[in-house]
Amino acid sequence: MNILFFGPPGAGKGTQSSLLVEKRGMKHISTGDLFRENIKNETPLGMEAKGYMDAGKYVPDSVTLNMVEDVFEKADVSKGFILDGFPRTTPQAEGLDELLEKKSFELGRVIFLEVPKDILVGRLTGRRVCKSCGAVFHIESKPPQKDGVCDECEGELYQRSDDSVDVVGTRLDVYEENTAPLKSYYEKKGLVENVDGLGSAGEVYGRIEALLNS
Ligand code: AMP
Repeated sequence: MNILFFGPPGAGKGTQSSLLVEKRGMKHISTGDLFRENIKNETPLGMEAKGYMDAGKYVPDSVTLNMVEDVFEKADVSKGFILDGFPRTTPQAEGLDELLEKKSFELGRVIFLEVPKDILVGRLTGRRVCKSCGAVFHIESKPPQKDGVCDECEGELYQRSDDSVDVVGTRLDVYEENTAPLKSYYEKKGLVENVDGLGSAGEVYGRIEALLNS
């Protein structure tokens, strides 16, 4: 089963993907994580993506599609894959369709995580991420035991530069304009399942598991 997580920034796509990876061993393909990895390693791709990301804008479609194609060439997706944060535009969705056809892969479900906008802002600006292992915390809803230190590996926690108050507004606007319309693209294919994204990560995961087992 291959899954596409769809929804605004802060809806919980990354968190739910990690839980699915843990329980089902699927391959997590997050374009945001891939760009951040490239930035960390100071690759040409990372240098190109950084300016767009810091401003809350989208990296160009051609760059993003090439990167995803490369993942499909190299990664082991035998236990299925989860797309998180991709596609984000109509050209990306069309490019994905071509890629899937070429590789004879199919999308089983498109899970749309529904979260009201006012909640998203609080989730994003309060998010803290571990520099070493990528574990995600929240200053209010999931604070680490020791301030600024990861519970999992004792790595340093940081705030993503695009989670700052000034950039979050742009990201939500860019999502509304470019990505929200994609929902109907997948509705026409009969693939969309709406899931209530409110509540704890465990509660939301329970809803997703119930859906996948139905
Ligand atoms: P995310 O981690 O999914 O919130 O993505 C963080 C940032 O990476 C986004 O705000 C974009 O700047 C960039 N990004 C991630 N995925 C894509 C994509 N599919 N298309 C264009 N830009 C992307």
